[in-house]
Amino acid sequence: KAKEQRGSLSFFSDDLTASARYRLDLEQRLRYAIEHDELCLFYQPQWDVRTGELTGLEALIRWHDAERGLIAPGVFIPVAEQSSLIGAIGCWVVRHACQQMAEWLESGLDVPRVAVNVSPQQLHYHDLVSIVRDALQETGIPPARLEIELTEGVLMSSSIEPEVMLDSLRQLGVRLAIDDFGTGYSSLAYLTRFPLDLLKIDKSFTDDLLFSPEARAVVETIIVLGQKLNLTVLAEGVENSEQLDALSQLGCHQFQGYLRSRPLPIEEVQALLANLPH
Ligand code: C2E
Ligand code: CA
Ligand code: CA
Ligand code: CA
Repeated sequence: KAKEQRGSLSFFSDDLTASARYRLDLEQRLRYAIEHDELCLFYQPQWDVRTGELTGLEALIRWHDAERGLIAPGVFIPVAEQSSLIGAIGCWVVRHACQQMAEWLESGLDVPRVAVNVSPQQLHYHDLVSIVRDALQETGIPPARLEIELTEGVLMSSSIEPEVMLDSLRQLGVRLAIDDFGTGYSSLAYLTRFPLDLLKIDKSFTDDLLFSPEARAVVETIIVLGQKLNLTVLAEGVENSEQLDALSQLGCHQFQGYLRSRPLPIEEVQALLANLPH
């Protein structure tokens, strides 16, 4: 028995070593990627439920590795979040999205808004407020065209003072959204304390909307909450028209999802923007 245990223990630790090595390797390659411009942003359009008009674009990061091709954020963001790399990535994303917005506006493409994602861990490494302030100054874009997507984890984080940070961001004139709403350490108190603009209904609720009365009740409640608190409500992960119909009936304001558009590389976003009805 003892032998068996020792055997499984050493198997387990080999396994850990392999995953630690993998992580370290990924981290080193990611560091290289940041320095050598191998990161890029895709943009997923967001739409008005009623009018079908474009309301914004969410910037979603991709890593273009020479050997492995396009790597999704689900693979490398968690690794980055365990090191200071997430600080560098966050900074890069905000600046890049603002520069892109400035380019669009200069070339006459009237993009209403660009939304960027912020990791809770990022806030340990960098001062988000000064990054956003610098990016706005550098690019001269109207601050209201930038939206910051925060998760509930950011607001509940004990190492920062969310109230001070959010107030400062708001004073810069940017918009604030809560991502994956309803899946984190939700506290309804922060909805009244913080200066928010938009709630994003998590994809998991959209997925179950048509089949689960409970999911439908949650979605309906978030929408009513948004209406009463004067917040825009956006549903993410909309994949079929039945979901969109249900969201429309419930009074949801905006949506994004494969039904209308996937996250697009820059050439495709520009083609889409150029062909929008005016
Ligand atoms: P998220 O912010 O919740 O982004 C939504 C994810 O759902 C995106 O995956 C998007 O491609 C995907 N999605 C959108 N519509 C649909 C749909 O209709 N069906 C399905 N099945 N999926 C849909 P993506 O781009 O792989 O990003 C995954 C996560 O990685 C994001 O979740 C976000 O948490 C994180 N992430 C992405 N970009 C960044 C970034 O620049 N910074 C940070 N910190 N995190 C990022
Ligand atoms: Ca997001
Ligand atoms: Ca989300
Ligand atoms: Ca998510």
